[in-house]
Amino acid sequence: MPARTGEQFLKGLRGPRAVWVDGERIADVTDHPKLRGAAHALAEVYDLHHTHADTCLMPDPETGEPIPVSHMIPRSREDLARRHRALRQVAEYSVGLMGRTPDYMNVTYAGFAARLDEWGINGNEAGAERLVAYQKFLRRGDISLTHTIVQPTVDKATGDAPGPGNVHALRKISESEHGIVVRGARVLATLAPFADELAVYPAAPLPEGADAYALSFCVPMGAPGLKFVCRDSVSTGANRFDHPLSSRFDEQDAFVIFDDVEIPHDRVFIDANRTAYNTVMTTSWPPNIQQQTMVRASTKLDFAWALALRMAASINAADPETMRMIGEIWTYAEFTRSAVATAEAEARQWPGGLWTPSSGPLHALRATLPLWFPRVNEILRMIGSHNLFATPTAAQMADKELRPLIDKYLPGAKGMAAEERIRIFRLAWDFAGSALASRNEQYERFYLASSARNLMRHLAFTDRSRADPLVDRFLREPY
Ligand SMILES: Cc1cc2nc3c(=O)[nH]c(=O)nc-3n(C[C@H](O)[C@H](O)[C@H](O)COP(=O)(O)OP(=O)(O)OC[C@H]3O[C@@H](n4cnc5c(N)ncnc54)[C@H](O)[C@@H]3O)c2cc1C
Repeated sequence: MPARTGEQFLKGLRGPRAVWVDGERIADVTDHPKLRGAAHALAEVYDLHHTHADTCLMPDPETGEPIPVSHMIPRSREDLARRHRALRQVAEYSVGLMGRTPDYMNVTYAGFAARLDEWGINGNEAGAERLVAYQKFLRRGDISLTHTIVQPTVDKATGDAPGPGNVHALRKISESEHGIVVRGARVLATLAPFADELAVYPAAPLPEGADAYALSFCVPMGAPGLKFVCRDSVSTGANRFDHPLSSRFDEQDAFVIFDDVEIPHDRVFIDANRTAYNTVMTTSWPPNIQQQTMVRASTKLDFAWALALRMAASINAADPETMRMIGEIWTYAEFTRSAVATAEAEARQWPGGLWTPSSGPLHALRATLPLWFPRVNEILRMIGSHNLFATPTAAQMADKELRPLIDKYLPGAKGMAAEERIRIFRLAWDFAGSALASRNEQYERFYLASSARNLMRHLAFTDRSRADPLVDRFLREPY
């Protein structure tokens, strides 16, 4: 099947799945008040591939059918530039608020499928071949994937990864006629209600003896025993005047329980192989996926900067402190754009022919953005002040008695109409202060490990060949 339309995507979501929101098991995720907005927004992303086909679609390398560019295995610097343009087009749709649009997993699996050399180590050649076949299925079916790679936290003193005997973490418990049976839990599956399949792949390395936890596979959302417990919804009603962002961009996050789930053999990519598990994420995965995450971040920061300028203009706030704060957002946007450009300019090839941006600039961003994004929200709230709450709703605007008074008493500066001013501050609150904003801030802090962890691991992604000699010169000087 070539690249799907929004309608085809929605039809796929109407299949069976065990998804809970609040106390309710959801019968149809495309038509539930707390999920409908995001389901239809994601359908618009699928449609967008077709309306911007030049940017977003490419021929499948084998069938020639159009597929999203995010499935491409980049084989050159030019391929990376092409993928950048497609990722940006999708990021702009939600101004970066949906982190896990399906392109995130498309990019991940394209990167995996290009590294047979890594996935095939320690006797895992067959698992690696199955992964390549799965990526073909993914791109030809234009499947929406959610994923869960982090172990559930029960007692932090026991470390990040489960040791032998851990009864909470996802593990293999037996073989069945057609596959393996797994039991346990994982966090956290963003996009779960809006996915066709769930992907499990490695994160923190496993200790000796923990082979049963060394798993990677994909499974349809409707697999018996698979359960998704969603966090409280931050989706509001459908009114886009009142809630321009939280009416449609709550991508959801779910705790995943595998209550004895059978995974068919052809979907198992790592089967209790700790060496493969501890290897496959360590080299090309971070810079490959971080092209998607940082193009998104750059889009979101550009949006925040422009929004701050509009807020200031609407009340003619041109004082030095306001301009300093807006300038601060601009530096974050500019540094992010520059780091992505540098990483792409320093792109490199990996064994097997995969090209990715360089790791250093993207890893530095990943460690720093969890600090910048909360600050951006703080600045928007400082600039917005009480104006963020002097924002009548669409229903109040439609009230014949109120409307003339709103137009008279709530205009913006320099002749700006009340409606425009109100729209600006409603947008700002939805972006920086609403429940959606709070969830998104948490996402930015943790979606690929905390800032602290990324800083602690920086030596894995850096090159000391220039820095060290600068110090050595002084250490080796004669007295
Ligand atoms: C909104 C959201 C969406 C997510 N979506 C997904 C998803 O789709 N798929 C998925 O698999 N996962 C997802 N995650 C999970 C994410 O991968 C984890 O939350 C992330 O890896 C952080 O895990 P952690 O709790 O171990 O954090 P930690 O890194 O342990 O951080 C928790 C706190 O401990 C501190 N800390 C950590 N280590 C140290 C140390 N050695 N010394 C001192 N302090 C330390 C940190 O600074 C931080 O304040 C999501 C998370 C969020 C919040």
